[in-house]
Amino acid sequence: MDLKNKVAIVTGARRGMGKSHALTLAKAGAKVVVSDISQEDCKQVIDEIKKQGGKAIAIKCDVSKKQEVEEMVKKTIENFSKIDILINNAGICQFKPFLELTEQEWDKTLNINLKGYFLCAQSVAKQMAKQKKGVIVNIASIAMGQVGVGFFNMVHYCASKGGIVGMTEALALELAPFGIRVNAVAPGAIDTPMIDPVKSDPKTMEAILTKIPLSRVGKPQEVSNLVLFLASDESSYITGSTVVIDGGWLAG
Ligand code: NAP
Repeated sequence: MDLKNKVAIVTGARRGMGKSHALTLAKAGAKVVVSDISQEDCKQVIDEIKKQGGKAIAIKCDVSKKQEVEEMVKKTIENFSKIDILINNAGICQFKPFLELTEQEWDKTLNINLKGYFLCAQSVAKQMAKQKKGVIVNIASIAMGQVGVGFFNMVHYCASKGGIVGMTEALALELAPFGIRVNAVAPGAIDTPMIDPVKSDPKTMEAILTKIPLSRVGKPQEVSNLVLFLASDESSYITGSTVVIDGGWLAG
């Protein structure tokens, strides 16, 4: 899959799946904006991309802040003249029983995981609409609801991920006339720092593995391969879809 001459923004790209998506898109030829709330580790991602022979810059952006999102889009255009691909990936997952969940914790999760996707999608889509072409990939989760599987201690996270799926469908309709495709990816358990609390609890880990027919958690690269396909012209007739990648969890 060839992304030569394409420009991609990946949010939350200093580590975990975001880093993997950035490296993968760059390997396919895209110029990549490695964006994260913290610049820590971004330089390392940039260095790795350059070592692969790719081109990348780091831009600090808290996706829940409109001004920072607009600044990220402006700097991207200043550096690369256009934006072809947005990977809305930045997210947080705090495990907390519902009856103890505070309003602040609810707001923080929804502000980053859902409002952040809206702010980035809108700001980038304004540029893509001028170009009459673009692709947005929203990272949701199998914790998105309506799939017959519920999750404990994640009410706020599930609400945000379900919101992303609804937003993806609605955006696909509104942005199709501008040549912009919008899809979501719904991963199961993937081996990133986000699931460290789960990995450090052998009982929970064992319970999770019994739910996964492939009997293992996924690797970030396995998700990046799907993200690359959806970001490329090879998926030119796919829009408004949510693609599950979970080792069979939801089929179980
Ligand atoms: P991760 O390793 O925790 O990476 C998430 C990145 O997002 C971190 O670098 C984090 O920075 C950054 N971030 C947090 N708040 C931000 C903000 N306000 N603005 C910009 N960046 C921010 O997690 P991951 O597993 O790679 O997750 C990537 C995406 O996949 C998330 O949307 C997550 O919900 C989704 N997902 C993950 C799994 C899984 O099993 N890992 C499963 C399904 C879906 P800090 O480290 O500084 O907070």
